[in-house]
Amino acid sequence: MIHKSSPLTYLFAGIAGAGLISTGFLGMRTLDQTSVIENQSNRVDSLLATISTNEETILGLETDLGNLKNDLEDLVEDYQDELERNEEFEDQLMDLAGELDEFERLNEIDEELLSKYSKVSFLNENYVPSDIDKIDDDYILEGKDDQYFHGDAMRFLERMFDAAERDDIDLKIISAYRSFDEQNELKGQFTEVFGTGANAFSADQGFSEHQLGTTIDITTPAVGGTFESFGQTKAFEWLQDNAHKYGFILSYPEDNTFYVYEPWHWRFVGRDLARDLDRDDDRTFYTLDQREINKYLLEFFD
Ligand SMILES: [Zn+2]
Repeated sequence: MIHKSSPLTYLFAGIAGAGLISTGFLGMRTLDQTSVIENQSNRVDSLLATISTNEETILGLETDLGNLKNDLEDLVEDYQDELERNEEFEDQLMDLAGELDEFERLNEIDEELLSKYSKVSFLNENYVPSDIDKIDDDYILEGKDDQYFHGDAMRFLERMFDAAERDDIDLKIISAYRSFDEQNELKGQFTEVFGTGANAFSADQGFSEHQLGTTIDITTPAVGGTFESFGQTKAFEWLQDNAHKYGFILSYPEDNTFYVYEPWHWRFVGRDLARDLDRDDDRTFYTLDQREINKYLLEFFD
């Protein structure tokens, strides 16, 4: 045992002291590092938590985005549906406007112009054409009074007569528009001369057509007023080949069951109907259904 202090003792004590200090120091350093690690670890935890939160946020945003996309797609679909409905509606409106337009035009057209007049169906005695003009004297048979024709159809009459002239066919009008009174008078005269036979020669249906202002009795200077032989003339042949181009038809052809054959009696029915009747040998104006005839009203003066 050493009880006595010696320099060696101090040395040891010094070393020991230094050792202790050194150990303490080292101990302190370890403590520092631990807290740094803890700190770092905490930071990592907190970062992980932040990342986790961000991930959740991103997931949430992705879901929201997905929902938005769906909503948008729905909206686009709705919009397209609406657009289609609008287009359909627009089409319907256009159709309706077209029908209204046609209806208005039809309303303005005189339906009588394409009516059939039979022994039981007459034109009203008060009927007067909407527009009546004097026919140029060049087209009238010499010695005859002034003659009148529907103003809106006059140009077709003139074109037909001019075309005939170019083909050396001398057409003349012997009778055109006749008012109800004129016709009654005429029928009275025929009755006096021919007795009851006048009903076949000048029956009410033929009269009705003249009252329209769109019908003419045609002859040639050679034939004059003796109507019956007109059917054997070149002029009649020319009319049969060409009159339809100008909208005229023979109302009462040979062997028709509606009225006595009248080769001189021509009625303006519009070019479309005249053309269609010319193409079809089996049908005539009076054998057509009235509803079918009325489809041509819109193009009557075209
Ligand atoms: Zn006639």
